Amino acid sequence: MRDINFLLENNAKPIWHPMAHPAEMRAQPPKIIMKGEGVHVTDIHGNTVLDAVGGLWNVNLGYSCDHIKKAIADQLDALPYYSGFRGTSTGPSIELAHELTEWFRPEGMTRVFFTSGGSDSVESALRLARQYWKIKGQGDRTKFLALKKGYHGTHFGGASVNGNANFRRNYEPLLPGVFHIPAPSTYRNPFNESDPARLAQLCAAAMEDEIAFQSADTIAAFIMEPVLGAGGVIVPPVNFMKLAREICDRHGILMISDEVVTGFGRTGAWSGARLWGVQPDMMTIAKAITSGYFPLGATLINDRIAEAFESDQSTFGSIGHGYTYSGHPVGCAAGIAALAETRRLKLDENAAARGKELARALEQLKSKHEIVGDVRCQGLMAAIELVSDRDGKKAADKKTTAAIADRTYDAGVMIRVSGNNIILSPPLILGPADVARIAAGIDAGLSAVK
Ligand code: PMP
Repeated sequence: MRDINFLLENNAKPIWHPMAHPAEMRAQPPKIIMKGEGVHVTDIHGNTVLDAVGGLWNVNLGYSCDHIKKAIADQLDALPYYSGFRGTSTGPSIELAHELTEWFRPEGMTRVFFTSGGSDSVESALRLARQYWKIKGQGDRTKFLALKKGYHGTHFGGASVNGNANFRRNYEPLLPGVFHIPAPSTYRNPFNESDPARLAQLCAAAMEDEIAFQSADTIAAFIMEPVLGAGGVIVPPVNFMKLAREICDRHGILMISDEVVTGFGRTGAWSGARLWGVQPDMMTIAKAITSGYFPLGATLINDRIAEAFESDQSTFGSIGHGYTYSGHPVGCAAGIAALAETRRLKLDENAAARGKELARALEQLKSKHEIVGDVRCQGLMAAIELVSDRDGKKAADKKTTAAIADRTYDAGVMIRVSGNNIILSPPLILGPADVARIAAGIDAGLSAVK
């Protein structure tokens, strides 16, 4: 690799960073991360910080998982690539598909369609949902329902079901026939309702209302994140997803659970659907499937959908969809190793236990710092919502949130800012002392901008 000066001089010049303004990146070049070890990363200047972002919600096993590294190296030696398009397959993809159907059996998932990441998984789910209805002779079912504040990646399909203007506005027109219902957020909702049980009923009623307005026989699927991640870790009322499932069932609508963040233990359960006791029709997974060591994703499918495709006698059942890297053997080898380690270390239990400690620590920060309007935590995914005035819930400005993130970094903790939220999604191998360090770092960051 080129020397440090070359990297510093060229930072944010030929490279456009995702989710950022190129001019802003040039003016304030991003941190260059050079090394990772355990739950820590080290930047180009030699600063080592605790990574409370976990890469990007994905490095669940931390940066030193030798099992995954070895699996990748061995697979590179044996076969660095072969396609999974019809006619050929590879050992690791067959094995990982088997493992995933065992792993997600409680959710009812019996088939696996591999992708290269989360956006691909969402796109695949949306497309397969439409195809399912064509097979069933109900080709009018083309529309999608989603939640406001939801995030489902950046392909046109995913962007269309996204519920945040930032990811939609500049790319319109998006897919027609997509409709959004209010996010079940107790902190901010159009009903001014803070009671979770009543809020769940109100959002469910809004969903029913939209379905009646559109006519159920035009709707292919409803997609939701069991805990809304990028939208600010919105934890729905405990019964909301179940209510949504019942509504989908009543109207024959497919349910897609977008588990790109919530899969593999992040919420304290092995999936978000399992956390809420729901069986969706499809699940989208990515990120922690390889703990971030290799790009990979998958769309998981239940028997209802699988049987329609597999018993189809027409041309509708053939899947005219797939990616060069669907079932990449190196990614799948990484996935097999990541899954084995995730299971061995019982990362769901650790996420639940550490998550409780983190929630307590964040509540303390809220009572200490006026700028903290709300804290939300489910397992090891958390948000601290920053406001300039607690009663009016006015979002804190961008400069303040950025300064808090910088001062927290100076105090040895990497956090991520998304809008007026500080987002936390640390590796799931986190220990109790790490939780305390994260809280102390954020405390220092919040205190510095007072
Ligand atoms: N769905 C959800 C719920 C996500 O959080 C993300 C990414 N953060 C995606 C889809 C898109 O995944 P990717 O960035 O891997 O394409």
